[in-house]
Amino acid sequence: MLAWYDCNGRDLVWRHGERDPYRVWLSEVMLQQTTTGHAAPYYSRFLTLWPTVADLAGAPDEQVMAEWAGLGYYSRARNLIKCARAVVQNFGGRFPDNEAELLKLPGFGPYTAAAVVAIAFGKPANVVDGNIERVMTRLYAIATPLPEGRALVREAAAQWVSDDRAGDWPQALMDLAATVCRPKAPLCMLCPLREGCAAFARGEAERFPVKLSKAPKPRRHGIAFVIQTGDGVIAERRVDKGLLGGMLGLPHTEWRPQPWTADEVSSPVAGPYQVAGSYEHVFTHFALSQSVWVQRISDSALSSVLRAHNNWQVLPLAEQKSLPTVFRKALKYLDKTSLCDAEKN
Ligand code: SF4
Repeated sequence: MLAWYDCNGRDLVWRHGERDPYRVWLSEVMLQQTTTGHAAPYYSRFLTLWPTVADLAGAPDEQVMAEWAGLGYYSRARNLIKCARAVVQNFGGRFPDNEAELLKLPGFGPYTAAAVVAIAFGKPANVVDGNIERVMTRLYAIATPLPEGRALVREAAAQWVSDDRAGDWPQALMDLAATVCRPKAPLCMLCPLREGCAAFARGEAERFPVKLSKAPKPRRHGIAFVIQTGDGVIAERRVDKGLLGGMLGLPHTEWRPQPWTADEVSSPVAGPYQVAGSYEHVFTHFALSQSVWVQRISDSALSSVLRAHNNWQVLPLAEQKSLPTVFRKALKYLDKTSLCDAEKN
C-alpha cells in the first residue's frame, strides 16, 4: 500500500512543504464536504493572507468570513476563527499533538483530530473519513448500512493504523479511494489491495458501502431582494448564529415551506421592482426555491435606507465573491432585468 502511495499519491497543494499542524488543520477543515479542486485555491489564499495560526487568530471575523464565501458550510469558518484564537490563547500558538486535547478545540471532531495527529505529528491515529469508509466497507464487505455500520468500519480501519509512516497510511487510503476505489466504476485491476478485498472477490465492489435510502429534502421558498445602487447592491450582515451566520447576504424573506404570494410580500425599500426570475439552491437540510426581485435606488435614497437598517451596507458588485453562493446566484439576474438596463441607459 505504501509502495503504491509512493508512486501514485496525489500532488495536492497542502502536501507541499513542511508538515505544519496549522496547514494540515486548515486543509482538513476546508476539505470537509468539499472537493480537493474546489478547496485548493481557498487554501492557498488563506495561507497567503494568514501564514500562521497567530495571523489567522488576529484577523477580523468579517474578512475571514468573506474569504470563506463560496466554500459553503459556514459554521466551519466560524469555528476556524474560534479555534485559531483558542490555539493562540491556550496553547501559545502551537496545536496540541494528541486527539484528546484537539477534540476540546472548536470545530474539531474525531476525523479532524485523528488526521492532524497522524498527518501533522506522525503519530498513529484511526483516521476515518467518507473515502476510507468506502474502502473499508469494500475490503471487509461490511453490509450493515451506514450510518449504523460506522462502528464496524472504525474497527476495520483500526487494523490499518500503524506506527510505520503513521501519517502516510491515511493519506494513502484516501488517495486510493479517490483514484482507484472510486464510488462508481472502481478500478479494481489497478488496486494494490485487490487480493484481500472481499467485495472484489464477490464481484460486488459497487454494492458497498450500503446506505439507507434518504428521505427527499424538504423544500422551502423565499424571495431575495437585489437592491442596486451605483455599482453595488445592498448586502446585510447576518446574525452570527444559524444558517450562514456572520456572513454577508442579500436581504430576503423568511425561507418557509409555502410559496410566497405577491400579496404577502413587499420589498423592504420603496419604489418599483421587477421579478427577474427564480433559482434553486440545495442546502444540507433543505432545498430552496428562491425568486429574485430587482430594484434600483438613487444615491439620494440610499442614505435613509442605510439609516433604517443598521446591518445593511453597499457591496460593490466587483466584490460579490464575498457573498455565499446562494446569494451570488441571485446577482446573475441583474443582467436580465430591463429595469437595470433602463437605468444603465
Ligand atoms: Fe476497492 Fe476494488 Fe481495491 Fe477492493 S479491489 S479496495 S473494491 S478498488
